[in-house]
Amino acid sequence: MTDATLVLNAGSSSLKFALYPNEDGSPSPILHGKIAGIGNAPQFSARDAKGNTLPPDASMPLKPCAGHDELIPQLLDWLQSHQSGLTITAAGHRVVHGGRNHATPVRINQALLAELDLLVPLAPLHQPHNLAAIRAVAAVIPELPQVACFDTSFHRTQERLAQLIPLPRKMTEAGIIRYGFHGLSYDYIASTLPMHLGERAQGRVIVAHLGNGASLCAMNKRRSVATSMGFTALGGLMMGRRCGSIDPGVLLYLMDNQGMTTRDLEHLLYHESGLLGVSGVSNDMAVLQASDAPEAREAIELFCYRTAGELTSLATANGGLDAIVFTAGIGENCALVRSLICERLGWLGVELDPDANIRNATHISSTASKIEVLVIPTDEESVIARATYRLSSACT
Ligand code: ADP
Repeated sequence: MTDATLVLNAGSSSLKFALYPNEDGSPSPILHGKIAGIGNAPQFSARDAKGNTLPPDASMPLKPCAGHDELIPQLLDWLQSHQSGLTITAAGHRVVHGGRNHATPVRINQALLAELDLLVPLAPLHQPHNLAAIRAVAAVIPELPQVACFDTSFHRTQERLAQLIPLPRKMTEAGIIRYGFHGLSYDYIASTLPMHLGERAQGRVIVAHLGNGASLCAMNKRRSVATSMGFTALGGLMMGRRCGSIDPGVLLYLMDNQGMTTRDLEHLLYHESGLLGVSGVSNDMAVLQASDAPEAREAIELFCYRTAGELTSLATANGGLDAIVFTAGIGENCALVRSLICERLGWLGVELDPDANIRNATHISSTASKIEVLVIPTDEESVIARATYRLSSACT
C-alpha cells in the first residue's frame, strides 16, 4: 500500500490535479491531470508518471455545467478506481490569497475557511474556486487533512515600503496593500537557484513568471524583495486578457463618460484587455506569434516593452541585477518574447546566446553577458505536495 498526497489547483474554468508519493525530497508525481472547460464542456485528461495517457471512467460522464462541488467527488472516485493499492493521506490546495497573516502554508480548519472567505473580494475570480475545492473534498472525506498553500505567502518577506500603496493611511490599515501573487511558482524557482547558479543564487535575481497571468519577482538571498503584482492579480504586467497596471484616471473616465459600471469595468480589465484586447486576435502568445496581423505583433511588442520596463524598476528596488529567470508557459517556451525583452535590457549588459535561446536551453545568456539569463520550468504542484506532506505528517 502506497500513501500519497493529492494536490489540487482549482481555477475558474479548470481543475489541475496531481498525486505525489509521501516521500521526503523532491518526489515526482505518480499521476497528474486536468479537468478543463469547467462550467461549459468539461474535458478530463490525465497522465501517469511515464507520460502515458490514462482513460477517464466510462461511468464518469462530466455534466456540462458541473462545478467543482460535483466534479471533485467524481475525480476522487476515479483516483480510487485507477490507483488501487494507494491511499490518499492528505490534500493540498493552491489558494490564491492568504492575506497579511499567512507567510507559510497552514492546515485547514473551519476558522481558517471563515478567514479565507473574507478575502474573496480581494481575489474574486480565483479565491471562490480554491475554497469550493476545499469544501468539496471535505464533503466527501471529512477526516482527510487538508492544507492551504498561498500565492501571497512568498512576498511577506518584503520590506514595508514595497508593500505600501500611497493612499490614506487608514486604507493601508484596512488591508489595501500590495500582496503580490504567483508565490508558489517563485518559491519553486528559488529552491532550484543554487543548483543552477551556485553562490550567485544568493544574489539579486529577477524571476519573470510569464503565463496567462504574468508577474515579476525580485529576489535577494532567494527571498522576495519586490513584485509587480499588487493588491489584486490585475496589476503589474500586461497579461493574456488582463491589462496590468494602468492610469486609474482611465477608470474614472470610463465610469463618468461611458457609463461603465463596476461589473463592466471588471469584465473589461480581467477578460477583454491585455494581449487579447490589443491584438483583437487572441490572448494566446503562441497564436499571436503565428499570426500575420500587425495588431498581433504590436501586442507582443507591447507585452515585451512593458515587461522590460517593469523589470528595470524591480532591479532598482533590489539595488542591481545579477540574473534573470524566465518561467511559465511563455517564459519557458517563447524565444521571441525572451529575445525582445532582453534586447531592451541590453544597456544593462544583458546579452542572449541566440542558439541557446531558440533551444529553450537552461542557460541562454552569451558568455559576454554581464547578467546571467536562465529558463527554468516552474512546478507549483511540487511545492504544494511537499508542504502538505510536511504539515499533515507533523500532525498525525
Ligand atoms: P497559466 O497562467 O494559465 O498557467 P501557462 O503558464 O500555461 O498559463 O502559459 C500559457 C501561455 O504560454 C499562453 O499564452 C501560451 O500561448 C504560451 N505558450 C505555451 N507554449 C508556447 C510556445 N511554444 N510558444 C509561445 N507561447 C507559448
